[in-house]
Amino acid sequence: MLIYILFFVIKGRGGAKIRELEESTGARIKINNGDYGGEVVLSGSSAAQQKAKEMIEDLVADCSSGPRDAVAAPAPPPIDWNDIRQNKDKYEALKWKGERFSVHEYCECEIFNWKENNNIFVDDLKEEGEKRSIPKPCRTFLEAFQLYPEIMDNIERVGFVKPTPIQSQGWPVSLSGEDLIAIAQTGTGKTLAYLLPGFIHMDGQTLPRAERGGPGMLVLTPTRELALQIETECSKYRYKGYKSVCIYGGGDRRGQIKMVKSGVDIVIATPGRLNDLQMNELINLQSVTYLVLDEADRMLDMGFEPQIMKILLDIRPDRQTVMTSATWPTGVRRLSKSYLKNAIMVYVGTLDLAAVNTVQQTVLIVHEEEKKSYVFDFIRNMLPLDKVLIFVGKKLVADDLSSDMCLQGLAVQSLHGDREQCDREVALKDFKDSRVRILVATDLASRGLDVHDITHVFNYDFPRNIEEYVHRVGRTGRAGRSGAAVTLVTRENWRMAPELISILERAGQEVPEELVLMAERYEKHKREKDLSNPRGGGGRREGGGGGGGGRREGGGRREGGGGGRDRSQNWGF
Ligand code: AMP
Repeated sequence: MLIYILFFVIKGRGGAKIRELEESTGARIKINNGDYGGEVVLSGSSAAQQKAKEMIEDLVADCSSGPRDAVAAPAPPPIDWNDIRQNKDKYEALKWKGERFSVHEYCECEIFNWKENNNIFVDDLKEEGEKRSIPKPCRTFLEAFQLYPEIMDNIERVGFVKPTPIQSQGWPVSLSGEDLIAIAQTGTGKTLAYLLPGFIHMDGQTLPRAERGGPGMLVLTPTRELALQIETECSKYRYKGYKSVCIYGGGDRRGQIKMVKSGVDIVIATPGRLNDLQMNELINLQSVTYLVLDEADRMLDMGFEPQIMKILLDIRPDRQTVMTSATWPTGVRRLSKSYLKNAIMVYVGTLDLAAVNTVQQTVLIVHEEEKKSYVFDFIRNMLPLDKVLIFVGKKLVADDLSSDMCLQGLAVQSLHGDREQCDREVALKDFKDSRVRILVATDLASRGLDVHDITHVFNYDFPRNIEEYVHRVGRTGRAGRSGAAVTLVTRENWRMAPELISILERAGQEVPEELVLMAERYEKHKREKDLSNPRGGGGRREGGGGGGGGRREGGGRREGGGGGRDRSQNWGF
């Protein structure tokens, strides 16, 4: 811990503190191992080193005399809405004079603790030696938007109490005009994290709105559902009368074109449809100065890179860009290198597990043919206010399962890519408005859908990869609520067992013994395979060996953990 404090205390903004210490002691001071940990290395004469050591120790002692408490107190001042209303003109005038406003000057320790308590990590992607000072996070809305009373009015209207972590650090970065990479899940307030600075950015453009000839802000997002959701979020906020339009495949193309032609400020689009309008010269993108690539990892997974590349050809290079992503794989890094300028990266929580820590997770090892009886058993045990999202692997299974449920008189909806767009929207609305409390869906619904009151996620089919598991499970337990997830695992899924165990352990969940055995069998199988084929490759699929050669599959399954488990006890009701 000391070293974290050391880092912030002695490195300070842009390394200024280090330089100061070096000058006054004559020692060379180096901090190894990156921004969030490591060691302080001193060089130079032993007298200089000793002096530097003492000065650093003094600094740390000053700072660590209660830094953790210091973060809790003083509490950020409450927002004085009357003052904001009464002084609207004054703040507007300050803004146009280019003044930056800070309600409370925090010391480095407070900032460090605020970030640590909120799991906020920031990295400047500029080369070592060229790194800029990172804008301080804001702890209240006022700190970010005091100069923008219209924004504060909106915040008062929606009744939010404080910025979420991604907003707390994302707003200061975007408002300073830098490109931003926000690594955060949906449900963490990331839409507002890019929308509000976008409004302010557009307002700050010198070219008058009427002369721009097209939208100022473009948000590219992977799915129609997300596009509609962002539009809904956007339309909750009023700023300078900005108009937005949602452009997505499957929607009314002519209507969308008409809207664009009538003059819009913000376009929220899926890449396919936007590229279609662009190629047919039905939309002008040269006016865009604020670009958002939302859920970049998902857009790449869905194969949208070529369309994105074509769209970006038309957008001016001197724009400001925000990219959001739930993960940080190679493809996303490549995208960020190509399309963002020296971005500052903010990520919240660990890259993987942020969403699932509040969810009680139950894993059941079953046979494929038993799955239906498990899911019906689960539904029979649901309480009146429970709401379940059932994930399946294939569109056909979604249809099959939901029609079985309908036949049994259950109110159910299904969501998958083969359904007409209008049916998908109705399905989602029915589920959101609780007209149905069961939604059977493919992974189309695993990311981004903002339904607050899902009490249970039921993984009927195990997802393709462990990241998707995390996304699915994160659909419940949202906005501080508790949630439960039930996951059926069959022998076909054995290669996921080791990763699943690691997720369960890290989230403090119970790991079924059968899953441990399955993971051991898989690891053994992998070792044997590597031995028999030391150069790797071979391309053979290791499908469905979860039972292990001739091992009595039944023996380690449901009866495990106390024999004849009562299924109703596993649903987390
Ligand atoms: P998102 O991650 O953008 O999908 O946001 C998830 C939900 O959080 C949306 O319903 C937002 O309206 C809501 N939200 C955004 N910012 C805040 C905030 N600061 N406090 C409470 N809720 C928020």
